[in-house]
Amino acid sequence: MNNTLSRITFVLLLVFISGSFLVSGQNRHQHKHQYRHGASNDQLLTVVCSFSDYASIAERIAGNHASVQYIAHGEQDPHFVPPKPSYAMMLREADLWITTGMDLESWSTTLLDKARNKQIMDGAIGFVSVSDGVNVLQKVEKADRTEGDVHLMGNPHINTGPLNWKVMATNIATGLMKVDPTNASDYQTNLDAFNDQVDRTLFGDELVDMFGGEMLSRLQENKALFTFLDKEYQGEKLTGKLGGWLKQTESWRGKKIVAYHKNWVYFIEAFGLEIVGYIEPKPGIPPSAKHVQKMIGVIKDQDIKLMLVASYFEKNSARMIEEKTGVKAVFLPLFVGGISEVTDNFQLVDYWIDQIDSNIQ
Ligand SMILES: [Zn+2]
Repeated sequence: MNNTLSRITFVLLLVFISGSFLVSGQNRHQHKHQYRHGASNDQLLTVVCSFSDYASIAERIAGNHASVQYIAHGEQDPHFVPPKPSYAMMLREADLWITTGMDLESWSTTLLDKARNKQIMDGAIGFVSVSDGVNVLQKVEKADRTEGDVHLMGNPHINTGPLNWKVMATNIATGLMKVDPTNASDYQTNLDAFNDQVDRTLFGDELVDMFGGEMLSRLQENKALFTFLDKEYQGEKLTGKLGGWLKQTESWRGKKIVAYHKNWVYFIEAFGLEIVGYIEPKPGIPPSAKHVQKMIGVIKDQDIKLMLVASYFEKNSARMIEEKTGVKAVFLPLFVGGISEVTDNFQLVDYWIDQIDSNIQ
């Protein structure tokens, strides 16, 4: 009798616990707004983002003025997101649609057609292209989709470059100010705080306090930061004042690695790594046996120790190349939420740096 009772209690407890997990999971991203279109002080805007990384920034900028949702899960291939009817419903109710603004979300066209929400269409007040103003890398001279290449407007994985976040955040803030001018000063305050955090996390407090984030960002963008830091200032080299992620990754500069897909070009550009080849012959095209053989040759010839693979890819080719060459395949989530402990952009880059650092030689 006692046994049965405790079993029932246990089952009830389980139901209760899983129930509350479900509710808290839904609250974060499926949170329903209270009112539609245009917000005054107590009305919530509905913001829908294509990806979790944009949602993470939008939450920071919007503060308590919006409910922010996103479509693709953190562990999904961003090029190929199956367009579910529920996504079209989310977009139908959106005041703001935040997207890369390149061809990464070609899957969103069908959803936007179904959503029939004029306010969020390209060019309308509620449309935000986060890539506007980003220095896009790997631009393509002549777009040719016939071969299956999925990076026809240049490299769309802008979420991997910390300096891009500031441009993205500015675009998001501008979008919020347009649909909700009443709270513009809050969005500006949140934007300034976010950008300051990016600068301090990237360069460290000391340099930011001395020169300001804007100047350091410009130097970094022009690949002139380390030349600048090599100068003496009040009898000391400035390199000693570097902190943050750039200090943490100082030993990486000039090291050669390979990658599966062109996911991390903005990241490696920021931290001075060099990618000497990709396992995919072109972005979005699975590796042929011949191309894999060629890459095995490259890895052996150049004695490459590390291969970056976004964790949404099939792992067989990477494992096989590992076995044949001794290179270490590091599987990384490309987006916030790709693994549960990574809940914002800063944690995501922290995680990448930790993983790479413990495997790079
Ligand atoms: Zn891609």
